[in-house]
Amino acid sequence: MAFGASENGRKRVTAGVEKFAGIGMTSARTRARMVERLREQGIRDEVVISAMEAVPRHIFVEEALAIRAYEDSPLPIGAGQTISQPYVVARMTELLRAGRDLSRVLEIGTGCGYQTAVLAHVASEVYTVERIASLVAKARNNLRALKVENVRIKHGDGSGELGEDLEVDGIIVTAAATKVPTALLRHLRVGGRMVLPLASRDEDLRGVQRLTVIDKAPDGIREQAYDAVRFVPLLPGLA
Ligand code: SAH
Repeated sequence: MAFGASENGRKRVTAGVEKFAGIGMTSARTRARMVERLREQGIRDEVVISAMEAVPRHIFVEEALAIRAYEDSPLPIGAGQTISQPYVVARMTELLRAGRDLSRVLEIGTGCGYQTAVLAHVASEVYTVERIASLVAKARNNLRALKVENVRIKHGDGSGELGEDLEVDGIIVTAAATKVPTALLRHLRVGGRMVLPLASRDEDLRGVQRLTVIDKAPDGIREQAYDAVRFVPLLPGLA
């Protein structure tokens, strides 16, 4: 199945934010505290900081968990999957941007669409792929509620080539693999960058992995490891 429709152009999500402003633990003030914490944790890119400040994370979690939405922890989103912790979302976005403007980015592992919404703030167009149908529907609803319009979602397996004629500046994989999914690099332009959690052994797929940056340089591929993280595994096939 191809990417779903979206409207063109970069759109701010503020329209949706206003609607949810000022409701106690989920207010803009709580989000401002989360952003302060991100700065303390070392996030420096102001474009990423503004995106984290703008996207209401509580919209992406179950109502019962909304009160915990701005804690720095992953939370369940159904189908055995999780929404990443704010620090990891900010860090991956910062590594992906590397201080540059991004026009088109590809995300593998949409989940509930939170990282997607953050990416929609820092890039002109976002393509995102999720293998679990119920999460595709959930992400679509969440992004629609926030009036995010520069995102296209595909129900598909993003562990290999997408069978689409798509070239992007950046790829972010939000599920852990033991090997760089090299087939995906075909979609990355030269000079572009991929960020993903990599495990060195199969056993670590359920444990700690390293955020890894892959740069597609004119003279080949460069790889560098960063923070220790814990993601759900990248799995083949549709569900
Ligand atoms: N980006 C999300 C995190 C989602 S968790 C956030 O903002 O919180 C990782 C997601 O990757 C899960 O929803 C899982 O179903 C999905 N996933 C795992 N393997 C995949 C694959 N091969 N193709 C597409 N999505 C995959």
